Order: sequence, then C-alpha cells, then structure tokens
Amino acid sequence: MKILVLSHTEENKLPDAAREALTAAKQLGPVSFGLWGANTQDAANALADADAEKVYVVTGEEFDAPRYSTDIAAAEALVKASGADVIVAGHTPRTARIQGGLAARLDGVVDTHVSGLNADADAISATRWFYRQRIKADVKRANRPWIIGVDAGVFEPFSGSDGQVEVQQVSVEVTDQMTRTKVKGIAKPESDEQTIQPDAELLLVAGAGWTKQQAEGGIKVDQAADLILDVLRKSGASLGGTKSMVDMESEGQKTLHFMTHMNQIGQTGSTPRHKKGLATCCHGEEPHVVGWRFINERRAINLDANCGWAHGKADVLYIADAFKVMDELRKLL
Ligand SMILES: Cc1cc2nc3c(=O)[nH]c(=O)nc-3n(C[C@H](O)[C@H](O)[C@H](O)COP(=O)(O)OP(=O)(O)OC[C@H]3O[C@@H](n4cnc5c(N)ncnc54)[C@H](O)[C@@H]3O)c2cc1C
Repeated sequence: MKILVLSHTEENKLPDAAREALTAAKQLGPVSFGLWGANTQDAANALADADAEKVYVVTGEEFDAPRYSTDIAAAEALVKASGADVIVAGHTPRTARIQGGLAARLDGVVDTHVSGLNADADAISATRWFYRQRIKADVKRANRPWIIGVDAGVFEPFSGSDGQVEVQQVSVEVTDQMTRTKVKGIAKPESDEQTIQPDAELLLVAGAGWTKQQAEGGIKVDQAADLILDVLRKSGASLGGTKSMVDMESEGQKTLHFMTHMNQIGQTGSTPRHKKGLATCCHGEEPHVVGWRFINERRAINLDANCGWAHGKADVLYIADAFKVMDELRKLL
C-alpha cells in the first residue's frame, strides 16, 4: 500500500488541514506527500520531522490561484508520479472541490468527510457519518486508488521543526484552456464581519430570544447586535444561529444584520466542531441541539429554567438575562 497526503500550499505555507491529514494518514503506515503551489519549498520544509518517504511537488505561479482546472491537474499528476493507491486530503475548500473529480480521472473511488481512519492486518477502514450525523459507518473498499477526504478539526495537526527537505518536481503542462478562469479576489458574504470561524475555540450561538420583547426596554435588536459583535471581536469566537433566528430576515422581521443562513446550526443547518459552545437566548430544542453533537463543553444562558438545555443538553445552564451576562462578559474579555 502506498499512501500519499495531498495538499495545495496556502500563502506558500502548509495549511493546517494538510497537517491534520498527515496525522490521519500516518495511522495507516509510511506516507509520501504531494504539494502544489507557487512556491512549494517552504511548505515542504515544514515536513522535515514528518518522516515522509518522498515529497512530490508541482510548482508554478499558475498553481497559486484556487482554480479547479489547475488544482485538479496538479493533484492528478502528483498521484500518478507517486503511484499511490490511498490518497488522504485535508478539508480545505480547494481540496474538497477536487476530490470527486480526481477519483473520476484516476478511475478510483472517493469518500469525503471522513472522521476516523483505522488499519488492521490487511484492510483499512474510514469512519464517516451518514444522514446528517445519525448513522456512523466504517467503510472498507477494494477499489484503488481510494481518495479519502478527512474533515477539519478531527485529527491533531502535525507539528515539527522546519528543515531543508528534498523534493521531487513533477511537471504539469498548463494549457490556455486551463487558465481561462482568472481569480481576481475573494468576495465575502454580505456582512460587515467574518462571523464564521471554523478554527475558533468557541462557538457562540445566538437564538431568536435576542429579538424578542424584553421585560425592560421592549425590543432591543440594535443593542443585541452591538453586544454580540463586541464579544465576537474580543473572543475570536465563531457565530452560530438557530433556525428561528436566521429565518427572520426572509420573514421581513428586524434581526441581527450579520446573521445569515450560513450561520444556522442544527438538523437542517451545520454541525460544527468547536471545543466549547455558549448558547444565548436559544431554547435548546432538539432539531437545534443535534447540531451540537461534536461540541464537547456546552453552556447556555436562558431566562427559562425549564428550557431544552436544562434537560441534560448542557453542562452548565445559567438562568439569567443574556443581555446582562454578555455585557459583563465583554468587560472581562
Ligand atoms: C424539521 C425541522 C428542522 C429544524 N431544523 C433546525 C435547525 O437546523 N436548527 C435550528 O436551530 N432549529 C431547527 N428547527 C427549529 C427548532 O425546532 C426550534 O424552533 C428553533 O431552534 C428555536 O429557535 P430559538 O431557540 O432561537 O427560538 P425560541 O424557541 O423562540 O427561543 C428563544 C429563547 O430565548 C430565551 N430568551 C429570550 N430573552 C432572553 C434573555 N434576555 N436572556 C436569556 N434568554 C432569553 C427564551 O426564554 C427562549 O427560550 C427545526 C424544526 C423542524 C421542525
């Protein structure tokens, strides 16, 4: 079995996702590495302590941009040069986008969103969840090459000292057709803040309660927005929302201007993997809380002592006014 970890560079460095994929792949046996980017040597040097059998690189300005055609051409060439039959890639938007196409080009198979890898005497298996995290399966496959995309935040990122690493250049012919798409910049969602931070320690969830009539002062959505943004800026937390909260704008109600459907956590939203979570003004209903499956330490602030969080869904529940608690919190940060 030949194992290859595959990644693009990010600002000429090794992305965290590639470091996580390396930890995952090493559980299976000795690994080689395949890298592409404008300058691959710096990223390769970060692998000095990784015991990689070989480091294959595709280098060139054309491979800097996040563009499907050049990304997949580089990845295909690296897999072919290495002769690998098991390819492990970390989860970045660029690697996630090419995994299916790469399997098709190599006449192989692919499993994405893998959250565990195991090797026994003669077979390897990849763990992944199906049907929105309700069914967990260990997948074994006979077909090769097998592309395995591992989810972010599952494996400890590899860390080691930098050193001079010998690389093997792999050449890829870049045609005009492959560079027709020009990457001019990055367009962010319409909001004045980057509120979704997958690498943050903390997930801060804002529920619809922030927009509801309050005992003193009526509806205080603007005050809520200031408080939440201030805590986000100071703590670096990632923002999640409940379905009720993110649906509000489309219903024409006044809501938090930076909250979009991208923030929704739950059965019909996302299932993030932050270490800690704090739910504010959120009732803790089951369709929302299933999205907290991978959050280890859960806290919630709610005025209602009988809310969903009180029913064994949170480690700590503060029965309190979230406006007051968050105001104290931002002073402490
Ligand atoms: C098929 C289906 C799929 C669904 N999928 C999802 C999903 O993916 N994600 C999701 O989130 N929901 C989902 N839901 C909806 C879910 O069941 C709940 O309706 C929703 O999560 C409730 O949102 P909420 O807690 O923000 O609002 P509410 O239920 O209105 O709760 C607001 C809470 O704020 C508290 N509060 C108010 N003021 C304060 C204050 N000052 N301080 C502290 N607390 C305060 C109140 O006590 C209350 O508990 C789904 C429902 C269905 C039927």
